[in-house]
Amino acid sequence: MNISKNVAELIGNTPLVELHSVTDDVEARVVVKVEYFNPGGSSKDRIAERIIDAAERSGQLQPGGTIVEPTSGNTGVGLALVAQQRGYRTIFVVPDKVSEDKRAVLRAYGAEVIVTPTDAGPDDPRSYYAVSDRLAREIPGAFKPNQYSNPNGPESHYHTTGPEIWRDTDRRLTHFVAGIGTGGTITGTGRFLKEASQGAVQIIGADPEGSIYSNPDDVHQYLIEGVGEDFYPQAFDPSIPDEIVQVSDAEAFDMTRRMAREEGLLVGGSSGMAVVAALKSARMHGLGKDSLMVVLLPDSGRGYLSKIFSDEWMGENGFSDVLSRGTQRPV
Ligand code: PMP
Repeated sequence: MNISKNVAELIGNTPLVELHSVTDDVEARVVVKVEYFNPGGSSKDRIAERIIDAAERSGQLQPGGTIVEPTSGNTGVGLALVAQQRGYRTIFVVPDKVSEDKRAVLRAYGAEVIVTPTDAGPDDPRSYYAVSDRLAREIPGAFKPNQYSNPNGPESHYHTTGPEIWRDTDRRLTHFVAGIGTGGTITGTGRFLKEASQGAVQIIGADPEGSIYSNPDDVHQYLIEGVGEDFYPQAFDPSIPDEIVQVSDAEAFDMTRRMAREEGLLVGGSSGMAVVAALKSARMHGLGKDSLMVVLLPDSGRGYLSKIFSDEWMGENGFSDVLSRGTQRPV
């Protein structure tokens, strides 16, 4: 019989799929690693499992303990899923700009959600950082994973994502492409692939216009979620990427919509962004048929139906050009 003992056993071993339509003007083979196949729906399940394992080993998490983290998205779902399987309480602190849908997902997994005012700055005691710090101090047995500085984030990708890609491409990949948020994915996966290939695999970071990684002198707001930062987190090792490619909101959202319509892959905006970065790099370097690029797609498009996939939202946010360009055209 092939029966998993519990749902957390299904984390990882996500599939690789080749792209055919959005890649029609590049010669390189482009395959994507589809992380929405994880049980919580994103690559963050991987870090949740390893962070919780490590905290149990170090004694930071004891039976009946509580996990407190300021997060609204995928990391919360991953932590809630693994915590629930092991009997921990979870409390997530989210700013009030986070949609009711996202809060409902966390509650559905049994998490408690505390909403804080978005306009409270990091020094304000009502801010979501301050509230989560206070709860972590005050609740007995509380553990705060802190995904931005926890080394188990990148480690999880070093031990799972990297080896899976190496194995599933028969060691033949030439390029790995991933967006940079906390930096855990690119740091851990990239480090493994560099070591395994003795430096041959090129590591390409994808970054939104306005984020610090691609241009520290021009940090500003952007709409792609889950990637880019305005500071350098400890989870990111800047020596790993060979190149960082900047992508605009419009380019990322256009590609995100095309991925669903042309490739049958309903993915999030950071996935569209990573595909754009791969194609830009392939064109810039004139990569040929012997190149095999693997692009990591962190999550599903289900969480973005009322944004990227809504014509109304796209129009209101200045992306009418993307809509009028249609879908069946070369990049
Ligand atoms: N895309 C999405 C949707 C995410 O939630 C994240 C995690 N913040 C990333 C990309 C980036 O991953 P990482 O934090 O490992 O750099």
